[in-house]
Amino acid sequence: MEKKEYPCPCGGKIKWKREQVLRDSIDCGILDIEYCEKCGEEYFPEESLEIVEKKLREAGLWGVQRKEIKFWKSGTSLTTRFPKEVVDKLQLDKVKRGFMYSEGKNRICIEF
Ligand SMILES: [Zn+2]
Repeated sequence: MEKKEYPCPCGGKIKWKREQVLRDSIDCGILDIEYCEKCGEEYFPEESLEIVEKKLREAGLWGVQRKEIKFWKSGTSLTTRFPKEVVDKLQLDKVKRGFMYSEGKNRICIEF
């Protein structure tokens, strides 16, 4: 497959690398990854994404659908609710604490 270089939205240059990929602690093997030298953002090319999806599906960790959530302002903090389907699927009702961090500009990751 031809490896094309193209620019990242941040203005940096996208490069290729092959690296061991862990997703949700599932070893997806060594895959092609596109990454930006400037902002560090990583992108999975189609082929790699398919492998990751397959591995996660095998582990039963894929298929939590994209759901809309709303945010409410309460005092100086923000409250949101997780949809029931997501709570059930990931058994979030058994979780007492987790960690959150931002991943890029418009994404939040929560680990538990
Ligand atoms: Zn970038």
